[in-house]
Amino acid sequence: MQAVTKPAPAPGFTLADVAEPVPGEEEVLLRVAAASVCGTDIHLYDWNPWAAARVHPPRVIGHEICGVVVGRGPGADLEDGHRAAVESHIVCGHCNSCGRGDFHVCANTRILGVDVDGGFTELVAVPQANLFAIAPDTSSEVAAALEPLGNAVHACSYGDLADQTIAVFGCGPIGCAAIAVARAEGAACVIAIDRNRYRLELAERMGAAHLVIADENVEAGVRAAAGGADVDCALEMSGAPRAVAAATRLVRPGGWITLLGIGDEPAVLDLSKNVVMKGISLHGVVGRRIPTTWERTMEYVRSGAIDAGALITHHYAMSEIEGAIQLMKSGQCGKVSLHPG
Ligand SMILES: [Zn+2]
Ligand SMILES: [Zn+2]
Repeated sequence: MQAVTKPAPAPGFTLADVAEPVPGEEEVLLRVAAASVCGTDIHLYDWNPWAAARVHPPRVIGHEICGVVVGRGPGADLEDGHRAAVESHIVCGHCNSCGRGDFHVCANTRILGVDVDGGFTELVAVPQANLFAIAPDTSSEVAAALEPLGNAVHACSYGDLADQTIAVFGCGPIGCAAIAVARAEGAACVIAIDRNRYRLELAERMGAAHLVIADENVEAGVRAAAGGADVDCALEMSGAPRAVAAATRLVRPGGWITLLGIGDEPAVLDLSKNVVMKGISLHGVVGRRIPTTWERTMEYVRSGAIDAGALITHHYAMSEIEGAIQLMKSGQCGKVSLHPG
């Protein structure tokens, strides 16, 4: 079968013929119905320092997937035809974090399409425990994007959003999804911040009331949008060190910040002045809480509280991966969906 692969420790992806996977203990074989491209896939494509240190090629890429069960390994019992979205983090189940139920910070996490072969192909083997059944009226494209949508739901879960003024730094698909979650939770005002006009327009479609360009006047722009006041909460999705520092200055005393973006450089913060003395809370957000974030995310989509389909702006065949990657690099897109073929 044909797959999008990282064949060797160097930039780029290759379409290659690979062997069909054989599901192991407690694993099922999924026929991939849809997938989507993630920023992590761009790091893998570019072979940045993180990718070079972590990934051992050859590797089949792809971790945001929806598929249908077509086979089982020993101990797995899901039947053929079961359609499911996939949690991309394969956890060990026996480390201290897993023992506490904090599976999202499992010490031995293996990520699909990073540490094990992924889903930009026809068939993929995944642990049965990583599957979440999809409602019949949820499209496979949306189901594939539930994984990043879950990042946004997780990031929004550390405080009350109702009637709050919320600043969202970074309006890629996860930032835009967070805007939709904040609106669904009854936020009074959502302020979207990005360098990229296309993404600010997507943020507006997802419910942002104010759009602020991330330039040197960003803090004045956010304050003006908030009616001259501090914001109650900031959701930091960009990873830009300057955005993290700005968030600590913009959030009101007693407010909170979730940090999901991953920066290339360490952020410099005046902790005493802007965190300690203001009594604000910083929450690092990684992955999704299993299963609670998934349950909540699927309910947002099922109920129509969030229009996840609006986040998906482009569709490509997997064989057109090069075009999908170049579009992602341009920033002129929301979520990019891939279909087999
Ligand atoms: Zn991802
Ligand atoms: Zn673990």
